Order: sequence, then structure tokens, then C-alpha cells
Amino acid sequence: MLPEIEYKNGAKLIIISAPSGCGKGTILQEFRKDHDVFLSVSCTTRGPREGEENGVHYHFLAEDEFTDMIEKDGFLEYAGYTGNRYGTPLAPLLENLAAGRDVFLEIETQGAFKVKELLPETSMIFILPPSVSELRRRLLKRGTETPEKIEKRVAAAAKEIERAYEYEYVMMNDDLDLAVADFTEIYDLIKSEDTADNRFAPKNENIKTMIDEVLKNA
Ligand code: 5GP
Repeated sequence: MLPEIEYKNGAKLIIISAPSGCGKGTILQEFRKDHDVFLSVSCTTRGPREGEENGVHYHFLAEDEFTDMIEKDGFLEYAGYTGNRYGTPLAPLLENLAAGRDVFLEIETQGAFKVKELLPETSMIFILPPSVSELRRRLLKRGTETPEKIEKRVAAAAKEIERAYEYEYVMMNDDLDLAVADFTEIYDLIKSEDTADNRFAPKNENIKTMIDEVLKNA
């Protein structure tokens, strides 16, 4: 059972989903320069990539440590993704919302919908890559995975993009400055609880067509 959540001073819980290689890390890095929000640090059973620090990018756990966290009800949600497990620790999320800080979760789609079901007041943002071939190019350029693993990630990404239609806000990361501006506008809409503005919603034809196009070029 989930404990009662206190959202002090209108603090928001916001999910950001974007297949790896979409550049969400860079958008958030820019956004956070002038917004004091709490970015949840997930637990994962995957190994660290070069430059990733334990406790900063992820809490890197062994399989049995991850299982322990599940058994202790330590996660808000957890999911499997391309052969590894990922989970959102519950305690820091509760502490930050109770302190009046917005909490961002960077999680994939299965986990995102689990959270939405548990906590319908959560806002959901999906960040699209310009195309699936561009995503592949970015992953290859990053060079942190073998070609085989990259293909696994590209396949997972295409599957995830199909679920973008179900998100409340959808934007594309093509040009970084524009993406940061879009992201900030979405955040402002969430904070002001303006549900009438559907500029970023898939029920808006332009947004729907944008998702269609990305999928068509998969
Ligand atoms: P990566 O291995 O590229 O860091 O992450 C792979 C995917 O797992 C990304 O889509 C990322 O957003 C997602 N992810 C990271 N942490 C969590 C988490 O705590 N829960 C879930 N469900 N997904 C996560």
C-alpha cells in the first residue's frame, strides 16, 4: 500500500519519458539551471556507463539488492527494460513533495503508466526523437553500447513511441534551444494547472501528426 502523499504548496509529480538517445538529459540539465526541482535518482541493475556516478546518475544495485528493495516496498514502481531492472525509490520522492519541491521521474513507459494508475494526478511528458534513424545515429555516436545492444534499444524505443499518444504532453528534441523552451512551456502549463491549453497534447492534430511521422520513419 502506498502511504498518503503530501503535495506541499502545489508541488507536482512529473514523469518524463524519452527513449535513450533522445537527449532528455541535456534538456533537463539546461532547464534545471534556473528551476529548483528534484530529479529522482533511480535504482538499476545495469552497470554504469563511462562517466556515470553511483548515487548521482543511478544507484547501481546488484540483482539481490534490487530484489531486497522490492520486498521492503522501497519502490514506487519498477520495470524491466532491455534486460535490466529499473526502479523509482519511494522515500526521497515523498520527502521532496512534502517539502514543496516538484519531483521529476525520468522513466520508461511501463513504469510511467503504473505511476499514473497509482497516482492519477501525475503529469506525463513524452520527448520524441526527430526520427528513429536519428536515434540510432545518436546511440552509435555515444558509443557506450555494442551494435547488438543498440538495435535492442532502437526496437524498444519504437515500441515506446507508440505509447506517446497516451501522454498528456508530447514534444520533440530536434534543436536543443527550442526543446528547452517547449519543455519550460509545458512545465509552466503543469504548474498553472491549465488543462484547456492543448498545444502539446496528442489530441491536437499537429502533435498527433508529429508522432505519426516519427513512427512512419521507424
Ligand atoms: P538507460 O539505461 O538508458 O539509463 O535507461 C533505460 C530506460 O529506463 C530509460 O527509458 C529510462 O528513462 C528508464 N528508467 C530509468 N530509471 C527508471 C525507473 O526508475 N523506472 C522505470 N520504469 N524506468 C526507468
